[in-house]
Amino acid sequence: MNVYDSARLADLLELDHGAPITWKRTESPEEADLLLLNTCSIREKAQEKVFSQLGRWRKLKEKRPDLLIGVGGCVASQEGAQLLKRAPYVDIIFGPQTLHRVPEMLQRNQEQHRRIAVVDVSFPAIEKFDVMPEPRIQGHKAFVSIMEGCSKYCSFCVVPYTRGEEVSRPLDDVIAEVAHALAQGAREITLIGQNVNAYRGQDHQGRPVGFAELLHYLASMPQLVWLRFTTSHPLEFDNALLDAFRHLPQLVAQLHLPVQSGSDRILQQMKRNHDREWYLQRIRALRDIRPELHLSSDFIVGFPGETDDDFQDTLRLVDDADMDFSYSFLYSPRPGTPAADLIDNVPLPIKKQRLDQLQSKLAQSARRKTNAMVGTRQQVMIEGVSTHFTTAILGNTFNNRLVHIPCEPTWLTEPLPTGQLISVNITEAISTNALIGQLLIVS
Ligand code: SAH
Repeated sequence: MNVYDSARLADLLELDHGAPITWKRTESPEEADLLLLNTCSIREKAQEKVFSQLGRWRKLKEKRPDLLIGVGGCVASQEGAQLLKRAPYVDIIFGPQTLHRVPEMLQRNQEQHRRIAVVDVSFPAIEKFDVMPEPRIQGHKAFVSIMEGCSKYCSFCVVPYTRGEEVSRPLDDVIAEVAHALAQGAREITLIGQNVNAYRGQDHQGRPVGFAELLHYLASMPQLVWLRFTTSHPLEFDNALLDAFRHLPQLVAQLHLPVQSGSDRILQQMKRNHDREWYLQRIRALRDIRPELHLSSDFIVGFPGETDDDFQDTLRLVDDADMDFSYSFLYSPRPGTPAADLIDNVPLPIKKQRLDQLQSKLAQSARRKTNAMVGTRQQVMIEGVSTHFTTAILGNTFNNRLVHIPCEPTWLTEPLPTGQLISVNITEAISTNALIGQLLIVS
């Protein structure tokens, strides 16, 4: 989501929107007149990185006092003007829902005689989508934001407080953005949001449209090859969504469905509002429809009160749900969340030991899945030129494994049709996320 937001902010700044200044991108901070940091506060570690980065930028500003520094995203939203106590040299502070106001905030900042920071971390919700230009698409993959925020209030999570509650974009806006991306050459669309399956948009007549219905609309667009989404919540993984997997071949058989823990007791403490069996039952139902499903998850290790038995339940869930590569994190208390009031009583060395154990289990599981692809035929999306062999194509599978495909040198004399699918026999696994394949037929 932050990658998407940053790209849209860059598009906005580079656009000539009548403001006295338009900006051009540079790769070097030393050369820049404006430095913007889009931040994340989901975990403590991410938040700490913000202040170390700002510390480096401060030195640049000491040399060049005219340099402008802006901080946006969830740390900005959480801290607001408080951020100026630790970083008084910051000029503007904007939140995830006010990034479209950055040009105006910069202007306001510059108009002042004595420069005081301009702060706006309010939640005008959907307004930004109406103001921002259509995203520019480079390559054949595009992210499209369909909803933002979260109303689940999991006890550990800061999102409802920093991004606000769930707000869905209108159906027509999403369709228009996807159509625009496809017209610019995108072939793989990833729908993004903090809880995409909580999507409750409206069509132009004000009729409510759910997530599964949205998927049906998008899958009817002829240029769309692959459709993905992230992140979804197990609680709202309803039968309509299962049906979408049954009927829409464009929906890839890869799902990132965070579960956080395999222990019912911890799930309850986390306020996930479902138990382990609900999760497993949803996955079994999806595998009945798509046996080839590759499932990934997020896990939090060392939540307050997590016992060794709870942790063993999490390890068992990796097997029971037959998980692919997944993300796992040490629990960190986030300001303002209910769990921050619980006693963080799992000693750090134990947390780290559990995290290591879980991560090595997940890595083994992912490697087994990659190995199991050897000998299968896969539809591979062309990504570009591979450097693994002298002449080879680089492709990507539905479950995000890279495939190096040796080819005739003449194939590479023209630009490759990226985003097109080719049939490939997988002959070898060279790492957890890379394979070698043999080209069959151009589809
Ligand atoms: N919407 C998703 C959450 C996405 S946030 C869901 O409801 O499952 C990305 C991941 O960061 C979460 O899945 C969780 O594993 C992790 N995370 C969130 N808060 C955390 C915290 N306080 N400590 C450690 N990890 C956390």
